[in-house]
Amino acid sequence: MLLIGSHVGYNSKDGLLGSCKEAASYGENVFMFYTGAPQNTVRSSIDISKRDEAFKFMEENGIVKDKVIVHAPYIINLANTEKYDFAVSFLKAECKRVEELGVHYLVLHPGSHVGLGRDTAISNIINGLNEVLPETSVTILLETMAGKGTEVGKTIEDIKEMINGVNYKNIGVCLDTCHLNDAGYDMSDFSSYLDSFDKEIGISYIKCVHVNDSKNPLGAHKDRHDNIGYGTIGFQNLINIIYDERLKDAPKILETPYINKKPPYKYEIEEIKNKTFNKDLIDIVTNS
Ligand code: FE
Ligand code: FE
Ligand code: ZN
Repeated sequence: MLLIGSHVGYNSKDGLLGSCKEAASYGENVFMFYTGAPQNTVRSSIDISKRDEAFKFMEENGIVKDKVIVHAPYIINLANTEKYDFAVSFLKAECKRVEELGVHYLVLHPGSHVGLGRDTAISNIINGLNEVLPETSVTILLETMAGKGTEVGKTIEDIKEMINGVNYKNIGVCLDTCHLNDAGYDMSDFSSYLDSFDKEIGISYIKCVHVNDSKNPLGAHKDRHDNIGYGTIGFQNLINIIYDERLKDAPKILETPYINKKPPYKYEIEEIKNKTFNKDLIDIVTNS
């Protein structure tokens, strides 16, 4: 069964149930959300009654609860010594919230070295993960990054070093197709990328795939997502990745941009299920 979903909203009023309903309205059987705004670290406590209603809704609507994903706010930076203590304590609290929500996976951007250099950044990230992971049952998934600014995690080697430095089993990887393209990995030859990943790290570490087209050419180090089939990766290459047998157990999550302030996910997911590109996507979403 294809595990397909998108980034959906979450608010403390409707809680997890609101996110489930949004995902179901797009025809999704998995989804990803932030427990608050992606760009800040303000978080409220979890409403347990809404959570239990959400579990029931998932069961009735074919949403695979065990594959639901939370994304940590992207300003968390374990790489940078200055904000390190805050990042560690925020992540510990975030893992508790994720556990309370019954979610097993938290996607994390490894961080940016902001002048400290790659090696120091990676060792800070490893130390941070080794503080957070033993206190939680949540698996933290390091996302592959585009290499924008001073981001680390843009190469297989970066990811391998971080994984090897971690002393606990609850660590994994989230691939992002836009980021891989922008980091310089050619998505038209995805199976070679997976071969190298498998040889260096192991495919079993890949627990989530962010499926995005890219607005920029191979190796641009930019990180601007595009709608499926509208960017430089292209529809067929993304379909090949989505349906790759080796990744069949990993949920595929769209983080493609809204079109004229409207979510494109229902229509993009239809295209993915039919394996047929819709050249009228912009008009259809705009008029939806
Ligand atoms: Fe991300
Ligand atoms: Fe992503
Ligand atoms: Zn991105």
